[in-house]
Formats: sequence, C-alpha cells, structure tokens
Amino acid sequence: MEPSSDAYVAGDGPAGKPRRGRSPAHLRAARRVAGLIWPQRSLITHRELPGPGPLEPELWSKLNFVTGALCRCCGLPFEIDVEPDQLCGACLVRQPAYDRARAALIYGDVSRDLVLGLKYQGRRDGLVTLAGWMTSAGSELLAEADLITPVPLHYFRLIRRGFNQSGWLAAALSRTSGVRLSVDALKRVRSTPIQGNLSADARRRNVQGAFRVRRGRVKLVKGKRVVLVDDVLTTGATAEACARALRKAGAACVDVITLARVAGPRAPPI
Ligand SMILES: [Zn+2]
Repeated sequence: MEPSSDAYVAGDGPAGKPRRGRSPAHLRAARRVAGLIWPQRSLITHRELPGPGPLEPELWSKLNFVTGALCRCCGLPFEIDVEPDQLCGACLVRQPAYDRARAALIYGDVSRDLVLGLKYQGRRDGLVTLAGWMTSAGSELLAEADLITPVPLHYFRLIRRGFNQSGWLAAALSRTSGVRLSVDALKRVRSTPIQGNLSADARRRNVQGAFRVRRGRVKLVKGKRVVLVDDVLTTGATAEACARALRKAGAACVDVITLARVAGPRAPPI
C-alpha cells in the first residue's frame, strides 16, 4: 500500500477544519512537503491530481452531499422545504431503534466508488477527508456524544478481509471530533449473509440478534450517548440491530453517522 497522504488532504471538503493542535501555517507547510513526496491521487481513479481536493473536478461535481431540511430522526433529506424538526413518512409510521442518523453523502455512483475503494481496496488515504465530511454532517450528534463505536464485522469476515472499514471510519471520526473511541464495544455474534437486494423486512430478519455488546465493554457503554459508525445506511436494519444491542447494555442514546445513505429507489446496488 502506498504511503498515506492524509496530511495533504486534511481540510478538503465541507468540513474544512485542520487537525487539532496544528497551526494553519504548519498544516500548509506539511501539505506542500507531503504533496512533493506523495502527489495527491484521486480516491476513485487513483490518478495523480493536478490541484487540491480528493477527486477529479468532474467526479467531485457528481458527489451529492446531504444538505437542506432533513428528517429529524433518520436524516433523510426532504425534497421540498418543510418546517424544522419534521419526521419523514417512514419514521412517522415506524420509529427506528436508533435515535438519530446522519450521513455525509447520498449514495450514488461516485459515492459508491468511494465506499468500494475503502471496503475492497483498503484505501485509507482518504480517511481524514471522509471523516471531515462525516464530522460536518453529524456535528450536532457528536457535540453530545460520549463514545464512538463501529458496526463490527463477524470474526470470519474480518479475518478474510483483514480490516473493518467501519472501524477505520470510526477511528478517523474520533480523531477529528475528539470523542472517545471504542473500536470493539460491539461484537457480531452471528455471521449473516450479504444483504444485497433483500427487502427492508428481510434485512431486519437477517440481522436480528446478530450483535451484542462485549461483556468487558458493558460498563463503558452503560449510561453513555453512543455514536455508531458505518459506511452506508441502506434500510437501517443493521444500525437498528446494533442500536438494540447497545440499548440492552444500557446506552442512554444511540445515534448513527455514516459516510453515505441511500435516499430514494434509484440508488445503485450496494
Ligand atoms: Zn425519517
């Protein structure tokens, strides 16, 4: 794997915040040096980029950031202007098991490539940028949070893949936000088939009871406001199964922050 160019891309995107403890001059100098040694490469095509930013301009312009009025619970963006603090139709019919969910991006062709690069190619060099976007999208949740923890992989899948991309995102989000990280508070106790094109109900059945808080982490979780981190929120079934496990262990609140979320029926396949 090539050397990380995180220092060079820190502060790109809507979060736009330099890392804590570094002066802007220090950061600019570090970026110049890092840029000379490790030229910035596109997070998707891996081509060398001529200017700042994590993607080619034509791909960047196709990223769809979540903005505007959102469902106060699941974070689904409304297509029309609505009064603040409204719920979407789905949350009105059925309250999710988590408290609030927020995502940086709408899941589309370009954000899908970002997720796949992270998940299957182990591209860590964009983590600071991606975490910056997630920090911006979930700022309200992070301001109240005590603990960040990722959606875990089953042990066998972790061994096969070698890493948990949600764990990487959670660690980067913890560094960016300053909220404490527990990388292993949750355990996947049952291996579940890939959710693929399953319906929402089938996904819920698929992950029902698949997670629990590790015995040694119950004290850590009890009474805490927990932020659960994952790469994509699809139907929310996995996030809900994790939220139930965290609540069972005594978590006071479970919010969810993801890099991307599905919004609407025309999302590309996960
Ligand atoms: Zn909603």
